Amino acid sequence: MQSSTQHTNAGPSRHGRARWSRGQVLAWGGVLLFCLALASLAYYWAGKITTDRLRVSGAQRLNAYAASLENLLDKYDFLPRTLELNKDVIALLKQPDDPALRAAVNVYLERVNQQARSTTIYVVNLKGITQASSNWREKDSFVGDNVSFRPYVRDALQRTPGGFYGVGTTRLEPGYFFAHGIYHDGQMLGVATVKVNIEKLEKTWVQGGDKVMLSDEHGVVFLSSVPSWKYRTLAPLSADVRHRLEKTRQYFSHPLEPLGFAYQPEMDDGTRKVQVPEQAQINGKEGRASGMLMQRRSLAPRNWEFIYLSDLSQARSNAQAAFIFSCVAEGFLVMLFLYVRQRLRATRQRRKAREDLQHAYDNLEIMVAERTYSLRQMTQNLSEEIAVRRQAEQKLQVTQNELFQAGKMAVLGQMSAGITHELNQPLTALRTMSDNAVVLLERGRLEVVKSNLVTISQIVGRMGTITGQLKVFARKSTAPPSAVALQTAIANALFLVERRMDLERVDFRLHMRSPGANALCDSNRLEQVLVNLFNNALDAMADSELRQLTVSVDSAGARVLIRVADSGPGMTEEMRSHLFEPFFTTKPQGQGLGLGLAISEQIVREFGGILRAESAPGGGAQFAIELKVAEQELGHD
Ligand code: ADP
Repeated sequence: MQSSTQHTNAGPSRHGRARWSRGQVLAWGGVLLFCLALASLAYYWAGKITTDRLRVSGAQRLNAYAASLENLLDKYDFLPRTLELNKDVIALLKQPDDPALRAAVNVYLERVNQQARSTTIYVVNLKGITQASSNWREKDSFVGDNVSFRPYVRDALQRTPGGFYGVGTTRLEPGYFFAHGIYHDGQMLGVATVKVNIEKLEKTWVQGGDKVMLSDEHGVVFLSSVPSWKYRTLAPLSADVRHRLEKTRQYFSHPLEPLGFAYQPEMDDGTRKVQVPEQAQINGKEGRASGMLMQRRSLAPRNWEFIYLSDLSQARSNAQAAFIFSCVAEGFLVMLFLYVRQRLRATRQRRKAREDLQHAYDNLEIMVAERTYSLRQMTQNLSEEIAVRRQAEQKLQVTQNELFQAGKMAVLGQMSAGITHELNQPLTALRTMSDNAVVLLERGRLEVVKSNLVTISQIVGRMGTITGQLKVFARKSTAPPSAVALQTAIANALFLVERRMDLERVDFRLHMRSPGANALCDSNRLEQVLVNLFNNALDAMADSELRQLTVSVDSAGARVLIRVADSGPGMTEEMRSHLFEPFFTTKPQGQGLGLGLAISEQIVREFGGILRAESAPGGGAQFAIELKVAEQELGHD
């Protein structure tokens, strides 16, 4: 059941709804059966309790009705016996032909009948002929009637006090007949008979709303609160009994059909349940056969049976109500159970989810701690690596700077002959002029001395400029990139090769197509690159007829382009593929190291630029330096 529930909770099944496992079906089937059993028990007990209550109250009612009937009949029991006390009655029986006596007895009987509230009182002789009667005045007077066929008269004549319920033969009025012998001096003279109407008892039963009936020893119902049950039989009569009843005319001509009750077996106390058929029901009410509880009590001396019927529909409806209530209560309990179980399950799931979450959280914390540790390790390793790399980079930087410096020194070395010549000439001039100044001072030619001194000062100034430029060029530079005015940088570079160009009669042309252009670089380094390119061009053109060096500056968007072109022999494809390799040179030993272009290319690359060799439009070689345009203010150099 558990696993199935989990399956159900996991999501809808393939068919879109949860399927019940065999165990679940059995369990719920069991619950249903149990509930039904409980409801049936409630049905049984409610029915039983109500039936028991009906039985108790029925027994009480039955006793009360029986007692009232006994009281009534007992009251009349003595009446026939009192008639023998009247001497006129005795006399009449002795002298039946005396009309005065008969009249006296008739009047007497009439008075007694009135006082006793009986129906009729009459006196019969030993032959069964009525001698006097309380109803002597009426047309259908009993006087003279032969009633010997009546069983009570017969019984009385045989010295047995008679009691008999029957329908009167004259007026067809039912009543109870009491008969007793009339004795005088121990000799029977006749029979005294009293008829009492007990039908009025029925009225009290009807008023009580009870279903009561009184049957004789043959099971013929002769009194009943239900009119249709009267003169019917509890069971079919045997032919013999039927014949006897017809003979005595006890129930006159009533057909005495059976009631058709279906009896269930008797219970311990003699009570039994009966099914009363539709046609036997009260007032011809429509409906199905109804169940009733039948209680009997026999009235011993008369062989009568008092029957009390209680309607069991109350018990049935109580049982049904108990069944329904029980079903509803069980349904409620099942719902409550399901609700509580659902709540508990939800709580359990929530707790489990919380635990899982906590577990996941704990795991996560452990994982995070592990990852943090490994990350820290990695960071440490990386930091160490970075430190190593930084050291390497610093070393590289230092080495590179030294390389650049070495390159510069190499250029200076190459230029040293020219520079020496450049400085020697003014020095010679200075010496000559200072010697002349001494002679001229001695001769007193102060004006000439003065002009010579001015010239000397100019020469010294020029020499200072040259050495200043050299100093600047030779300086170690590690400045970060800044805006460099290209015109100034080109002019500074030119200054260092100017003398050589003059000597070698090189035609120099500058095309500043973008005069105010600034490049993002280091001026000292850029000058180093330019001097290098200029010297290479001059070297290449050494044997050329036409010596033309052209420098142009263009700007295109965010880049500036400096082109250095010469009219030398140019370069072969093979040379161009090795140009920027260190120690590649075509110059004689002692003149070239093959480092100039390699260093220059690296310097330009460091500024985010490109140095490349191009074919010059008119033959010769052309180098292009492409640099980033500097937008900011000019740097100071
Ligand atoms: P070096 O000048 O010491 O030889 P560089 O690296 O400056 O070293 O130049 C390498 C070689 O490139 C030179 O030897 C030369 O053959 C060639 N080269 C450089 N510039 C020019 C040029 N303007 N015209 C022809 N060849 C050139």
